[in-house]
Amino acid sequence: MSTSIDSFLDLAAPGVRALQPYLPGKPVVELEREYGISNAIKLASNENPYGPGPLALAAASAAIEGLGRYPDGSGYQLAERLARKHQLDPACITLGNGSNDVLDIIARVFLTAQHEAVFSQYAFAVYPIVVQAAGATACVAPAHEGSHGPAYGHDLAAMLERVGPATRLVFIANPNNPTGTWLGSDELDSFISAVPAHVMVVVDEAYFEYVGEENYPDTSAWLARFPNLIVTRTFSKAYGLAGLRIGYALSHPDVAGLLNRVRQPFNVNSVAQAAAVAALDDDDYLQLCIRRNREGMARLVAGFEALGLACIESAGNFVAVDSGRSGADVYEALLQQGVIVRPVANYGMPGHLRVTIGRADENARFLHALEQVLRD
Ligand SMILES: *Cc1c(COP(=O)(O)O)cnc(C)c1O
Repeated sequence: MSTSIDSFLDLAAPGVRALQPYLPGKPVVELEREYGISNAIKLASNENPYGPGPLALAAASAAIEGLGRYPDGSGYQLAERLARKHQLDPACITLGNGSNDVLDIIARVFLTAQHEAVFSQYAFAVYPIVVQAAGATACVAPAHEGSHGPAYGHDLAAMLERVGPATRLVFIANPNNPTGTWLGSDELDSFISAVPAHVMVVVDEAYFEYVGEENYPDTSAWLARFPNLIVTRTFSKAYGLAGLRIGYALSHPDVAGLLNRVRQPFNVNSVAQAAAVAALDDDDYLQLCIRRNREGMARLVAGFEALGLACIESAGNFVAVDSGRSGADVYEALLQQGVIVRPVANYGMPGHLRVTIGRADENARFLHALEQVLRD
């Protein structure tokens, strides 16, 4: 019996057949191997360019001694620490292998082939993946075009229009990746208030720590008011632990109970748990990274302006800039200079590039390379 590739495709679950895999940022080692260069820099995956803080590093090193044992499947210490931070019961917390894991768990708990999930145009690429993988239907609301809200930002009125009887989930990224756009407290509060009780609203706050904008909400404080709210956070961005894969959801305890049924028993490793607890205790380091991010953001924005390029105002640790030409071409030309950024044509933004705020030397090198590339 012979099989062709097509027949394997036929065997895949219907939602999986049409899936496009997530495109990660190009790793530095890959670029250096392919182009035969060294000293490449990566501003492509929104990591903290300073990495973990000293307390987190020390805790991670110490935890390595215990690698022979399974991790604490309940994540007791971290859940207690997070409960204190958010002034919630530990039963409200679901730990994930990155917050992407939590997003996937949420989709698998609430979606079937009969259900729909609503999110915005230009929203984080993981939402369509988890929705389709669960066999459900994605309803994409057009983003603001710029007259009633920030261009490329979530249009909550358009999203609400798409909520119907089959809707079980709404995904909101605040701020959103790759646009950096964010929603204010009043508009988000009104939106969640207007969403029917049978719809879970997921507010993805992956960049929460970086946001300094006035009126930006901490929706973890809204859980008592909205039992259908799920807030997700991560240690991958401001806390500098992307390589360890750890994030979490905050929700009503009954919702957390459902998420726990689907969660793999040991989804968060022991090193990640220890490092995350220590990272939460190192506020000085976090604040330092946030300050440097603001300085770097100001530097890049000023650099774009000097080059006559428009960027989308961002509340995160990255910024989407309109190259004014093919973003793919500029991306390739930057690669030749050893600078990795992120093309976002897959988001429907073919002229834009998403650039992570790096260290001061990296930002300067990127701006210099960009200037060269645009001149050629
Ligand atoms: C980076 C990011 C995440 C977090 O991913 P992890 O799995 O926690 O590393 C979640 N949501 C958005 C919008 C992101 O940009």
